[in-house]
Amino acid sequence: MDINDRNATDKDGDKPKIAFIGLGNMGAPMAENLLKAGYTLSAYDLSQAATERLQQAGASVASSPIEAARNAQVVISMLPAGKHVHSVYLGENGSNGLLTALPKGTLVIDSSTIAAADAMKVAAAASQLGIDFLDAPVSGGTGGAIAGSLTFIVGGSDEAFAKAQPILAVMGKNIFHAGDQGAGQVAKICNNMLLGILMAGTAEAINLGVKNGLDPKVLSDIMLQSSGRNWTLEVYNPYPQVMENVPSSNGYQGGFMSKLMQKDLNLAMQTAQDTNVETPMGAKAAELYEAHTVENGDKDFSSIMGRHDHSVLF
Ligand code: NAD
Repeated sequence: MDINDRNATDKDGDKPKIAFIGLGNMGAPMAENLLKAGYTLSAYDLSQAATERLQQAGASVASSPIEAARNAQVVISMLPAGKHVHSVYLGENGSNGLLTALPKGTLVIDSSTIAAADAMKVAAAASQLGIDFLDAPVSGGTGGAIAGSLTFIVGGSDEAFAKAQPILAVMGKNIFHAGDQGAGQVAKICNNMLLGILMAGTAEAINLGVKNGLDPKVLSDIMLQSSGRNWTLEVYNPYPQVMENVPSSNGYQGGFMSKLMQKDLNLAMQTAQDTNVETPMGAKAAELYEAHTVENGDKDFSSIMGRHDHSVLF
């Protein structure tokens, strides 16, 4: 294979070699699923404990992103925030990052949830170097990462999307092509902004009913069959003991942490500001979660119920 013209799908039909960067709560199980599917993986994380876990699962461990990507046709990253993605790909001074070390034709898939503007900056730098970049944030949480049933929301060219599809299919069940570069991040934060609004609104409605003498389960059943019906009432009721096997019936443990919802709402607000779009409901949800996470950041995001009825948190 010509090193300057790499393809994500090896010309012999072999699986491409993958470098995986960022092996936290999401990245580690995603990388493990790739190993189980027979991909050769080189893994890198700042944390030694994280890389050791992957080594035991069969990955080779690298001491830098550049070393991980040596001989790799595909790079996948799953990092906390935009600054980490910039630091890995663009480097500390914008010119000494991983991108400059990758051969043309390498496929880069960033699955971190970051601002669309941050993703576009990396995408533009990649394009100049002849590297295919996809923003591919996920929905589905750690449960989805472990089960290989994540939803990928992808932004980038048709060609890059087609190359990535068989790899993403190992880690996810639903794979959407949202549009050009940046579109994956925009679509994801639109969805999560709506989810934050729905959860805060549902908690508010249930609280109004309960404070006026209604049983939360009876009220939830009524709204579920009426025009207030929404996903939170269907599968994720925020009031304790209305539903089994949801975080609200388990002390708000597990699920999707409030601090991650707050992060996504802040990304939505940043995007709205960058592009001059009004989002008054999103702004209110962001404000509510900002206050809520001061003490409840690690609890599931349905714990916003406790803003109205503090007793549910204990
Ligand atoms: P995490 O904090 O558990 O893992 C991040 C990992 O990245 C850590 O192991 C950290 O050591 C590593 N890291 C940080 N900077 C690095 C660098 N410069 N080089 C290499 N490694 C570095 O986070 P997570 O829960 O796995 O989330 C990752 C991304 O996925 C975030 O953007 C998050 O918003 C998104 N996400 C998370 C969930 C969830 O439920 N946890 C759901 C959907 C999306």
